[in-house]
Amino acid sequence: MSRFFSEKYKALDVYTPGEQPKDMQYVKLNTNESPFPPSEKAQAYAAKAAERLQLYCDPENTALTKKFAEVYGILTDEVLFTNGSDDALNFSFMAFCDDAHPAAFADITYGFYPVFAALNRVPYEEIPLNSDFTINVEDYLGVNKTIFIANPNAPTGIALPLSDIERILQSNPGNVVIVDEAYVDFGTESAVSLIHKYDNLLVTQTFSKSRSLAGGRLGMAIGGAPLIQDLNTIKYSTNPYNINSMTQAAGLGALEDGEYFRSNCATIMENRAYLAEKLAELGFVMTESKSNFLFAKHPQLDGEKLYLELKKRGVLVRHFTKERIRDYNRITIGTKEQLDILLKNIREILEENA
Ligand code: PMP
Repeated sequence: MSRFFSEKYKALDVYTPGEQPKDMQYVKLNTNESPFPPSEKAQAYAAKAAERLQLYCDPENTALTKKFAEVYGILTDEVLFTNGSDDALNFSFMAFCDDAHPAAFADITYGFYPVFAALNRVPYEEIPLNSDFTINVEDYLGVNKTIFIANPNAPTGIALPLSDIERILQSNPGNVVIVDEAYVDFGTESAVSLIHKYDNLLVTQTFSKSRSLAGGRLGMAIGGAPLIQDLNTIKYSTNPYNINSMTQAAGLGALEDGEYFRSNCATIMENRAYLAEKLAELGFVMTESKSNFLFAKHPQLDGEKLYLELKKRGVLVRHFTKERIRDYNRITIGTKEQLDILLKNIREILEENA
């Protein structure tokens, strides 16, 4: 830390992204990326856009916004594209949280929420999940705080039905409820269908997982026009050019290639069922994941030990050190071939530790 660093930020406990080691070729099942490349259309559009990088990108994301509105059945002023959905979440902490509107989110959820809260100097409450990692909806009724709910949740993958999201929206009319749908395309009902019914609903989604564009950084916030206008105020006060032209073009290509998106999501869901079945046969205990990952623990094997043993053998999964979940690992759903390598290594590790 330099002696110039602002007092405001000195105590920040930063977010730790999943590791991206370069020492060897890993079977990478640790950061919930898609195992499939971006659609060919997305790649071709991005390459074309690269020819005009001497020009600033379109700050209004016009083509992308128009296509998105058409595909999702909303108006163009009901969506804002951002640099990954992390950007949309940060904007939401900036726009909708303050001392009078503290944030509230689960104790076990996306690790960036407390970081964004601290960055923006927003007080927050962590609401404990039930012992089986489900949300107790009653805990969110009438809390009078700006609520962040990952649906499905991370790293558990557990989803809340829309009827529960509606109860939370109805009981907190004076606050925005942000539903983070980073993993919604793998089998959860989206709250986007409710944006015309609730003016306090904001949904965030991403192209990072289901549309294979994690490195492109493209996310979005979807909600009533006044909420989107507020987010635009933040965007135009920080970085109007937050999505580069290649990413805008790739996003458009990905949206035009709906068939590829749907078929990849279907394959991931099939592979998830395959992995869950095989892990259960090996004695693992899992939450019911609706995401592109499983959250699993083995009664006879320490979570960190499994993570380290797999890493030694060239397979990366994500281990968290937080007390409540340290027995678990989060395993991204890869291709069938990747999952078979994972399973072969897990079998060996279990035999060695029997
Ligand atoms: N929300 C959740 C629950 C996530 O797990 C992630 C991925 N780290 C994000 C949001 C952000 O993803 P991105 O910025 O790539 O859209």
